[in-house]
Amino acid sequence: MSENRENKTPQQAAENAPGARDHAAQAEQLDAADPLGSAVRDRFVLDDTVYLDGNSLGALPRAVPGRMAEVISREWGELRIRSWDESGWWTAPERVGDKIAPLIGASPGRVVVGDSTSINVFKAVVGGIRMAGKGCTEILVDATTFPTDGYIARSAARMTGLAVRPVEPTRIADEVTERTALALVNHVDYRTGELNDLPGITNALHSAGALAVWDLCHSAGALPVGVERYNVDLAVGCTYKYLNGGPGSPAYLYVRESLQERFDSPLPGWNSHADPFGMTSDYAAAEGIVRGRVGTPDILSLLALEAALDAWDGVAVEDVRTKSLALTDLFLDCVAAYAPPGRVRSITPYDHGRRGSQVSLECSGAAEVMAELIRRGVIGDFRQPDVLRFGFTPLYTSFADAERAARVLGEVLRALPEEDAAPGAGG
Ligand SMILES: *Cc1c(COP(=O)(O)O)cnc(C)c1O
Repeated sequence: MSENRENKTPQQAAENAPGARDHAAQAEQLDAADPLGSAVRDRFVLDDTVYLDGNSLGALPRAVPGRMAEVISREWGELRIRSWDESGWWTAPERVGDKIAPLIGASPGRVVVGDSTSINVFKAVVGGIRMAGKGCTEILVDATTFPTDGYIARSAARMTGLAVRPVEPTRIADEVTERTALALVNHVDYRTGELNDLPGITNALHSAGALAVWDLCHSAGALPVGVERYNVDLAVGCTYKYLNGGPGSPAYLYVRESLQERFDSPLPGWNSHADPFGMTSDYAAAEGIVRGRVGTPDILSLLALEAALDAWDGVAVEDVRTKSLALTDLFLDCVAAYAPPGRVRSITPYDHGRRGSQVSLECSGAAEVMAELIRRGVIGDFRQPDVLRFGFTPLYTSFADAERAARVLGEVLRALPEEDAAPGAGG
C-alpha cells in the first residue's frame, strides 16, 4: 500500500483537500469566539497531537500532579493516620460527590464517590430491585449497553430471582409493564454516540411504576444530565472519561433524595454504617447518601479526582454542550468534505437531540485506519467490528483539532484505499 501513500506536508494536503481552506478558516473563527477557549484548555496537559479519546481516558488536568505530591508527602508521609480526620480523607467520598453533583444536575448530598462503575451498577440494580413492588418479576436492560452493565445486571437478577429482558432504549416505553422493577439504561451509547431520551424514558418507566436507573459514563461532563429535573431514581457513572479523574479513578452513585431512606445496599460495608467506629456486629445503615459507600476508599485516586474537578471552575455545562455540538458538527462537515466519497459512514445521529459528544464512523479496515491515524498524531479509538470512534471533550478540544483530525483522516483514507484495507474485523 506504500505506493498509494501521499507524501505531502500537511499544508499541501490541506490545500488539496476539497474545501480545506474554508473549513480551516471556519475553525479559526470558532476558536476565536469560544468561551471555553485557551484559558480552559490551558488547565490540561496536552501536546501537539489531536487527542480525541477523552471519552475513554480524559487528559491530565494541570492541578493534579502538584496536589498528588502534597497528598503523598504531607498527608500520607507526615500526617499518616491523622489524615483520615485532619486532611478530610474520611469524608472525601461525599465531598467529591458534592463536586460532581452540579455537573449532573443534583443537589448536595445525593452523590457518593467510590468503587468502580461495575460495582455501582450492582448497588443500584440490587438496591432498586429491593425498593420495587412485590409483584415485580423482571428488569429491563438496555440491549445496546456497554457490556459490563449487562453482565452485572444479569447476575443481580439471578441473585434476586428476577428475569432480565434486553430492550432497545427506544422500545422501553412500549415494553415496560407493571411487572418491571426497573430499567438500566445508558444515557449515551458508547459505540454509536447516540444520546438516549432520558426524560422520556424515565417518564415512561415511572408511569408503569418502575424505577429508572441511568448509566451516565458517556454523558456526565459532556452534556447537561438533569438527574433531579427529570426525576431519575438511581444513576451511576465513571469519572475517568469526560470528568478527567485519571486511570481507574473511582465511580459515583446517585440516589434520589426521596429514595435514600429506602435504599438498602447489597454491599453494606462498614463505611456505610451509621456508627462505623462503634464496631458493632449489628448493621445499621447511615442516613443519606453515605449508605452508598462500601469499604475504605481509594484515597489517592479519589483526591486526584477531586483536584481534577477544579478544571470545571467557572464552566457552565450548557456552554460545554453548545461547544460539543459545534465541534461534532464541524468534524462531520469536514469528514464529508475531506473523506473519499462513500468510504466512511457516520453511525452517530446528525440530529442534535440524539447526539452525545462523540462521532463514530463505520469504515472498512477501521483497525488499520485508526492505527495509521494514531501514527499521524490523531488519537481516537477503534471498536469492533469496524468503528472509528472520536470523542470530543469541549474543555480541551479546539475547533482546529476537529478540522485537523478530519483532514488527517482524509489523507489516511486516500493512502489506504478500501481494497487495500484489511477486512473490517481486523485487530
Ligand atoms: C466506561 C463504562 C463503564 C466502565 O465500567 P468500570 O467498572 O468503571 O470499568 C461502564 N459502563 C459504561 C456505560 C461505560 O461507558
